[in-house]
Amino acid sequence: MDYSGKVRFAPSPTGYLHEGHLLSALYVWAAAKKWNLHIHLRIEDHDRGRTRQAYIDGIREDLDWLGFEYQSESIQSDRQEIYRSVLEKLTEAGLTYPCTCSRKQLEAENPRSETGEIIYQGKCSKQDGGATDERYANPHNLRFRTSDKIIEWNDCRLGHFIEKPASQCGDFPIQDRDGFFTYQFCVCVDDQEQNITHIVRGEDIRNSTARQILLSQKICQYAGGIGNISRDYHSPLYLHHGLIVDSTGKKLSKRELAHSIRQDKEAGVSPEELLGRVLFKANLASDSSPLPLDEAIGIIVHTL
Ligand code: GLU
Ligand code: ZN
Repeated sequence: MDYSGKVRFAPSPTGYLHEGHLLSALYVWAAAKKWNLHIHLRIEDHDRGRTRQAYIDGIREDLDWLGFEYQSESIQSDRQEIYRSVLEKLTEAGLTYPCTCSRKQLEAENPRSETGEIIYQGKCSKQDGGATDERYANPHNLRFRTSDKIIEWNDCRLGHFIEKPASQCGDFPIQDRDGFFTYQFCVCVDDQEQNITHIVRGEDIRNSTARQILLSQKICQYAGGIGNISRDYHSPLYLHHGLIVDSTGKKLSKRELAHSIRQDKEAGVSPEELLGRVLFKANLASDSSPLPLDEAIGIIVHTL
């Protein structure tokens, strides 16, 4: 089969899949249907503290139970070598530095954006002094230099954005204090290295897009040639879909999101019932009648 591009479904195995994941999956599979895309399942287990093997297995089992098929799969814990090589190139290019600020200092010394994120003011941003830099002897994370660059990008649903990562978050960590690569870094390396052409995900992550584009540009520029990373950056197409909301229009609470597909499955709910309910809750169906997977995907294709 000849595909015209590649889209990924990228859940984090920090819990079992819930209705929010199911809605995302429907959008990913709908995009694949509409644009004839290869579907890649990427298990984002960068957060080692919260990852459990049962959740990793659960992702595959639940997708299988629901009938979602994909063409390839990867897991971030298998890709540490690539991340290390890319980090080395960014560091050689002077784009990273160690930050020894404690959580408390970060809170006290930096402003927050409207979205509640800390905007790091660059306290530790002096030049990385290499292996002899005394900051390496203390607990530190590695931050990426955002510079003042303005990023313009387009979302298929939400329109045009002009954003400056320096004012959204400032220099941000690509490796944490425990030596683990962060979500922002892994997602950029993977999207480039796996030649992802379409990024379809919930609008709760929209705010990360500009910084990811900036980091991806630098990854291509300085680490192009590692694995399948191209030397030229090509922007993927972005689609951030709406979220499931409760009857008052608010985002689902942690407790509601903790209610898993698996619990429903064990209680005897069928895939069709679950799909019908999710489309109704996402305001994409007028009632919650059961829907087969291809019909549920078809409904979303019409909204794209
Ligand atoms: N792993 C992220 C999540 O489960 C999604 C990352 C992405 O799509 O960029 O929220
Ligand atoms: Zn610092």
